[in-house]
Amino acid sequence: MFDRLSSLVVALTLVAIAAILAALAGGDALAIAILAAAGVAAAAIVYSALPGTVIVENRAEAAPTPALPPISLLRHPDFALWADQEKEPLLGCDGNIVTLANDAAIRLLGRHIVGADVRTAIRHPAATEWLSNADAAAMLEPINLIDFPRPGQRWTMRIASLSGGQRILFLADRSAIDAADRMRSDFVANASHELRTPLAAILGYVETLQDMNEADSATRHRFLSIIEREARRMQQLVIDLLSISRVEADRFRRPTAQVDLTAIVRATIAQLKDSENPRAKDVVAAFDDAPLSMLGDEAQLGQLVHNIIFNAMKYGRADTPVTVELLREGPRARLSVRDEGEGIAPDHLPRLTERFYRVDEARSRSVGGTGLGLAIVKHISERHQGQLDIESEVGKGTRVSVAFPLNG
Ligand code: ADP
Repeated sequence: MFDRLSSLVVALTLVAIAAILAALAGGDALAIAILAAAGVAAAAIVYSALPGTVIVENRAEAAPTPALPPISLLRHPDFALWADQEKEPLLGCDGNIVTLANDAAIRLLGRHIVGADVRTAIRHPAATEWLSNADAAAMLEPINLIDFPRPGQRWTMRIASLSGGQRILFLADRSAIDAADRMRSDFVANASHELRTPLAAILGYVETLQDMNEADSATRHRFLSIIEREARRMQQLVIDLLSISRVEADRFRRPTAQVDLTAIVRATIAQLKDSENPRAKDVVAAFDDAPLSMLGDEAQLGQLVHNIIFNAMKYGRADTPVTVELLREGPRARLSVRDEGEGIAPDHLPRLTERFYRVDEARSRSVGGTGLGLAIVKHISERHQGQLDIESEVGKGTRVSVAFPLNG
């Protein structure tokens, strides 16, 4: 009810009153006067010693200051702080004048936009059309800014309307999403094209055989061999398409099984050597049997090793060695496969892991390639935190290597 100082005042006053009463009861007049004066003086001194803030507080209680007009969201100091933490560009506008631009907006549009007309800051016809409409309600649906800020890119803009004609503009880059969509549809188109080619050949030869009532057995045999080859190519393509989609689906799942890379490479070489491929005899395993333990998916690692060695067999010169090495490099294990073949020109190297990319399409087809082998290798390597390197010298040969982190 009372604060500390008020209580003291009340107490001293009561003491003085008590002394007066006591004196009235039996003391002389002078004693009464002295005690009364002392009580009042004590009360006055204590009261005047109250701290200033309390007084100000009391005065404030007595006469409250009039309420301030509400602070604008755009001018609130915390708003600028928050805006700068946003990764996407954001503009605050008073009417059409830019009053605030976060760091991302300044990086995109330049520092000069603050104070400028927003329609000149975002030079795009769709943006100008919407921004010129001062009555436009808050835009929940984003507006597409095609070819903004450069041809081939796409950004979106959203407008949030505030009171007093103020607006916040949110810009977002959609170019990467569009590129991913494009890649997906290109992939479907490429896969369909790859399947259509052998299918057309198969249908063509089947029809020819049907029309040839009296074909000699040599011709019949030749046509059937072509049909078989094209059907096998389709089969390989379907296997690789399934592999790449499975590997992509597993992309973000870290492998948890403990595997021995040495054993996987040995098993893959043994499997290739058992095949009827005439190059199988040229595969040389230049490593010892020391286990190399890592976290991995055994089937996927086997596929990676197979694809790299099989490419060296396909593109290396006949009867030249395909050398497979496995080395421990500190905390990593490096698998490398060397061949002596025509090699690859430097400008092709960065694109080899793209799906369906081939240096020489006819050559790839003639050796039964699908154009997916190295794309699968790249995905499996990334899932295992591997680092893929391809070095090549035209006319000499190629070395493909992958370094994986070891575990134990
Ligand atoms: P493909 O099924 O056509 O072999 P890959 O994805 O495995 O597809 O390889 C892509 C392309 O890279 C091949 O078509 C070939 O041109 C080139 N290439 C891959 N490995 C080698 C190699 N060891 N030597 C020469 N060229 C290679």
